[in-house]
Amino acid sequence: MSKSVLIVGTGLGGLATGLRLISRGYKVTFVEKNHKAGGRLNQLKKDGFTFDTGPSFFSMPFEFEELINDCGLEMPFSFVELEPLYTVHFKSGNKKFYLHKDIDKLSAQFEGIEDDFKNKFTAYLNKCEALYNDTVDIVIRQNFDNLPAYLKALMQVNPAHLGVLLKSFWAQTGKYFKSKEARQIVSLIAFFLGRTPYDTNAVFTLLSHIEFRHKGYYNIKGGMYTIVEGLLKELLQKNATFHYNTEITDFTSQRDTLTALIDKNGKAWEADIFVINADAAIFRGQVLKHKKYSDKKLLKKSWTMGYLTFYLGVNIKLPQVEHHNYFLGDNFKTYAKTVVSKSRAIKNPYYYVNVLSKYNTGCAPEGCEALFFVCPVPNLLNKPEWSDKDDIVNGIIADFSKRIDKNIVPHIVSKTVYTPEDWQSMMNSFKGTGLGLSHKMHQIGALRPKNHDEVYKNTFYVGASTAPGAGLPMVIISSKLATERILKSEPAI
Ligand SMILES: Cc1cc2nc3c(=O)[nH]c(=O)nc-3n(C[C@H](O)[C@H](O)[C@H](O)COP(=O)(O)OP(=O)(O)OC[C@H]3O[C@@H](n4cnc5c(N)ncnc54)[C@H](O)[C@@H]3O)c2cc1C
Repeated sequence: MSKSVLIVGTGLGGLATGLRLISRGYKVTFVEKNHKAGGRLNQLKKDGFTFDTGPSFFSMPFEFEELINDCGLEMPFSFVELEPLYTVHFKSGNKKFYLHKDIDKLSAQFEGIEDDFKNKFTAYLNKCEALYNDTVDIVIRQNFDNLPAYLKALMQVNPAHLGVLLKSFWAQTGKYFKSKEARQIVSLIAFFLGRTPYDTNAVFTLLSHIEFRHKGYYNIKGGMYTIVEGLLKELLQKNATFHYNTEITDFTSQRDTLTALIDKNGKAWEADIFVINADAAIFRGQVLKHKKYSDKKLLKKSWTMGYLTFYLGVNIKLPQVEHHNYFLGDNFKTYAKTVVSKSRAIKNPYYYVNVLSKYNTGCAPEGCEALFFVCPVPNLLNKPEWSDKDDIVNGIIADFSKRIDKNIVPHIVSKTVYTPEDWQSMMNSFKGTGLGLSHKMHQIGALRPKNHDEVYKNTFYVGASTAPGAGLPMVIISSKLATERILKSEPAI
């Protein structure tokens, strides 16, 4: 008889692992605390508008292809390549850069700003490419059974990269570029990792290679939630079952085996194998009561920043804004320090604006736009109180209106705001962090919470806070690693 698997959480990691396992003959059941699937990869439908609520683009599309091939399926959604990747607006001089992968088109915009940009950028990307090629298979795509195995893998990395490991992302950009524009644009990607270029290791400059050379960025025709809908359809066709509004809060066990997970209403969910897509650190501490993940220990870990997100429907078209846009102020360093420190005042926030309706006309009524703003902010450890959210949001809307030379305030017909408090209660995220555990060097590879439980041999983890890390492609890799782990452990379970 096929083994039963209970998956806690329907984030991308949970869905992808479920699909891999059900394709191999396992019987898969999901429990999810929210009323619908997707986790952070979600959707808001309101007032005639459709918004992606979390991820709005992704890199490494080949990871999705690997997942779909692994399950013997046809791709259930269509990729759209981003060109330009996005725009970056600087406050001083209201200068706007189009981030093209085409190096000539990109370089032309740096004339008079950064001498010899093309050669410098080529040299920078060559180094990023070498970092990517020399680390991705050794460190990212592997399950490590123990620390010595991880250290052994690290020793295989080309020693030419040692110098990079001792530097911050920001310092590394200074080796190649002089202008603040070039350095800030190139290092923006550190914010995508949930920290800042000042406290992100320079090894993550490998992301610039992924961004500019190795396939670039993509989104999905019809909006990002189409990914979830596509995976759900495949899972339902294969008879997976889903139980929403079901939050796991407790467990029962016998020696080294988890026997059931208990939901908020006291119902016991039994299975042969348990896969936890809820945060791998929090679940161990708050549900399984592992001492190594007690509240006190969780507080000592390094977490990502929070996100203040808001979703506006406006009854005008905004041709002056592209699909993906970053708006930077003129206080890069101060702002970067603010979002990861104990500071309550968020002055001149930086923000990202996504216009989903630009190429997906069904996402807004005719003549309207669906706008999604993401603003990196302190998480609840550093800013526990959000009664000033309206002031912050209104400040961003005023800044945006000024910078696009169009006052959108009288045109807003739909408005929804999520603070880190909302993200915490929606996702059970630790202190409202946007991406879970940070990717500091002591929290990656074998040093991240493992994808198998330390106590219960039939319990596994998938998602952003276990190996290899956060972001959609990493979470897909995580589902592959978790599945490999389960298949390898199967005889013992
Ligand atoms: C605002 C924002 C923007 C982002 N933008 C991008 C982007 O552009 N590109 C990109 O690649 N990544 C982006 N990310 C990151 C990306 O969304 C995440 O890394 C990824 O979606 C995490 O997936 P996951 O499988 O780890 O789980 P999650 O999405 O965190 O899902 C976990 C699920 O578990 C459920 N759960 C938790 N606890 C329990 C419990 N006790 N019982 C039952 N269910 C439970 C939750 O409700 C949730 O549905 C963004 C994230 C945010 C917040």
